[in-house]
Amino acid sequence: MPALSGVEGQPAPDPWGFEDETVETWADILGPQYLDLALLAAFIVLALVSFKRKSVPLKFVTFAAAIGYLGFVKSYLISITNIFSVLDWNLPVVRYNLAWYLFFGFTVVSTVLWGRLYCGRVCAYGALTQTLDVVIPRRFRFEVPRAIEKRAAWIKFGILFGVIGYYLVTRDMLIYQYVEPFWMFGLFGTTKMWLALGVLLAATVFVRNLYCRFLCPVGATLGLMSYLTVFRIKRWSECNTCKICEKACQWGAIEGPKIVMTECVRCDDCERLYADTAICPHWRIIDYNSKKIAILPLQPVQ
Ligand code: SF4
Ligand code: SF4
Repeated sequence: MPALSGVEGQPAPDPWGFEDETVETWADILGPQYLDLALLAAFIVLALVSFKRKSVPLKFVTFAAAIGYLGFVKSYLISITNIFSVLDWNLPVVRYNLAWYLFFGFTVVSTVLWGRLYCGRVCAYGALTQTLDVVIPRRFRFEVPRAIEKRAAWIKFGILFGVIGYYLVTRDMLIYQYVEPFWMFGLFGTTKMWLALGVLLAATVFVRNLYCRFLCPVGATLGLMSYLTVFRIKRWSECNTCKICEKACQWGAIEGPKIVMTECVRCDDCERLYADTAICPHWRIIDYNSKKIAILPLQPVQ
């Protein structure tokens, strides 16, 4: 039978063998997460500054950080498995996964504010293929005809709904390995998965951003969310006939005056063009009209 009282002056031993529960403080919780939170916050600031400044060099610095830090070091990528977890409302415990929630929250909020900024600047795989796009000589490129491009863009929505349907029926999360290559940043995968990735990357040499434009279910999800986007790219009335931006957009996201929000990744290419007073007809027409007004002869006052 356990003793009911201890030696005088000393705490009585716990007769039932229960230990005092240690109380976890915020310092205990945040301690191991400070560095991750700080580095992720720094990355988000970099991504936003490069986006707001429409700076090409800063965009490529962001890509390097996305590939190196978010991809290979942390494997922070939004995956179809996260969409499964949201559907099941089976999410990681917030206080032990603060950096992940910051990452996820930034993706959702930035999509609602600006559209697929995640695809255009944050996703490590997207950053990798967009970097490949500038490295690979243009002569290897096959330009997908516009009519085919428009239809092919629907494939990713078919994959998204197909995979979600499959998951809801089977609860088999491993389906992810057949529809996304993000596991590559964790450097694991079967021989078949690496072979499939090799084929995908080889195809990307010829068709730029192939996976992102036509196949990615996460891109499709963010594209659908982009219908909610608050701050959209502005267009001029001249965009209807000019088409300079439409031809420059590598994502097939411009149709006359309209930006197709499901496809636009906020890459800045069109925005830089129509801010350029030497190229964009909108500014040239304003310039022309102002000069015409300036040389109009003065009319005698009646
Ligand atoms: S489309 Fe998919 S792979 Fe491409 S950038 Fe977006 S989430 Fe990443
Ligand atoms: S060029 Fe413009 S419309 Fe096309 S993806 Fe980039 S930001 Fe979007």
